[in-house]
Amino acid sequence: MPHSRKIWTAAEARALFDQPLMDLLFQAQTVHRQHFDPNRIQLSRLLSIKTGGCPEDCSYCSQSARHDSGLSASKLMEVQRVLAEARRARDAGATRYCMGAAWRSPKPRDMPQIVAMIEGVKALGMETCMTLGMLDADQSRQLAEAGLDYYNHNIDTSEAHYAKVITTRSFADRIDTLENVRQAGIKVCSGGILGLGEGAQDRVDMLVTLANLPSPPDSVPINMLIPVAGTPLADAAPIDPIDFVRTIATARIMMPQSHVRLSAGRTAMSDEMQAMCFFAGANSIFVGDTLLTKDNPEEESDMRLFSKLGLQPMVAHEHHPEADEVRRAALLAADPAIPVLR
Ligand code: SF4
Repeated sequence: MPHSRKIWTAAEARALFDQPLMDLLFQAQTVHRQHFDPNRIQLSRLLSIKTGGCPEDCSYCSQSARHDSGLSASKLMEVQRVLAEARRARDAGATRYCMGAAWRSPKPRDMPQIVAMIEGVKALGMETCMTLGMLDADQSRQLAEAGLDYYNHNIDTSEAHYAKVITTRSFADRIDTLENVRQAGIKVCSGGILGLGEGAQDRVDMLVTLANLPSPPDSVPINMLIPVAGTPLADAAPIDPIDFVRTIATARIMMPQSHVRLSAGRTAMSDEMQAMCFFAGANSIFVGDTLLTKDNPEEESDMRLFSKLGLQPMVAHEHHPEADEVRRAALLAADPAIPVLR
């Protein structure tokens, strides 16, 4: 990222967020066009490699062992099965393969299997992303050496609202993992969830934290809560769709070079709302019928929507070139002995 990038104050970000919607959308679309082809969307495919039984207490999550969501826990998936699924996803057009495990953090005994998954998916020509919970510096380095492109670790919400949603770890823990990942030279994917009972200021504060990280995340997933029966947020009030669009547009302006991903919650969005999110600067989605454990629109309906809107999928490794330079520099700075991945 350029050294001259803007550091945002909460007041500046709030002023952006609060401006008349048409002005906000126009500004977001203008910024979007300066950095991306507005008619291209990055497609990611998500696979749960270890479902349920998580010791954490995230109030929105069906995979927490502390909630009674009826989800049964599974063991870590075998490498060959993951690779077979990844091959199918690649053949269906996905360019990034995201693998998620419901852990507080990976255990040493899991690392060889995780490394084999990363190496295998990369060998298929796809970008790799993992979400495995908290990572220390050494774990981050191991994943970087295996060739991991992205690590997803959402900050979820604002620092002020965080303890109302999760008590088993702190907001600072999240930031520490993001820093370990960044130092290892892995690209960061980090965003949040809207509809956790937060207010507009929490949404803005979350974006300020993300935008002001030492490097803004390469990918910023913005999720809309899908309330799950048996979780503490089962009856959470839905977020107003316009507020959702405002958050996407504000994220686009504050993080102009990041892929802003319209993530969970698309099943509850009309075509018109999704189109508005794309106009506001969202340029990435998950494809496939399930997102870890939640429903996602069927691929046919996504392709129909793309065709109506004239959107085309991005190809693998279609990045802003500066992002790759930054990654190479970070890898070398972290450890000159690490082989630099291209
Ligand atoms: S969101 Fe992740 S860490 Fe939290 S309970 Fe669910 S699987 Fe565990």
